[in-house]
Amino acid sequence: MSSFPLRIGTPDGLLFEGDAERLVCRTITGDLAVLAGHCNYCTAIGMGEAHVVFEDGTTRYAACIGGMLSVMDGTCRVLATTWEWKEDIDKNRAEEAKKRAEERLSRQGLTDQEYANATAKLHRALVRLSVKQ
Ligand code: ATP
Repeated sequence: MSSFPLRIGTPDGLLFEGDAERLVCRTITGDLAVLAGHCNYCTAIGMGEAHVVFEDGTTRYAACIGGMLSVMDGTCRVLATTWEWKEDIDKNRAEEAKKRAEERLSRQGLTDQEYANATAKLHRALVRLSVKQ
């Protein structure tokens, strides 16, 4: 299978630069798979599990939350708000974050903003736990 150049970064720096055979990631309109030869493209990233398949057949999984993805002249660039490789996810921290968010959501009288923040925190924790398991 053909490969394509892939760069993955966050505001904290470059996390990966190299060739990949496939990148799958959740965008705001659904799951996207990028293969070699993909047309020029740009989309906003949603919240979900991502994975990269490499030329040697190995696959790495990650939690990918927010940001932008582009394909330009064959190069795919992911600038994610959060990109955590599976091995870097702290499961206990995600479980604690999930509990805190659920506890907040169970309270009465939350403002719309508080509700939105707690929902987003819960969603992030669920993505991390789903990637980690
Ligand atoms: P928490 O309440 O545990 O901080 P959060 O969802 O509010 O969770 P974020 O604001 O999404 O955290 O992330 C803040 C920073 O901490 C980011 O750099 C993110 O990669 C990192 N981070 C958050 N949770 C985890 C985790 N469970 N494992 C590894 N890194 C994490």
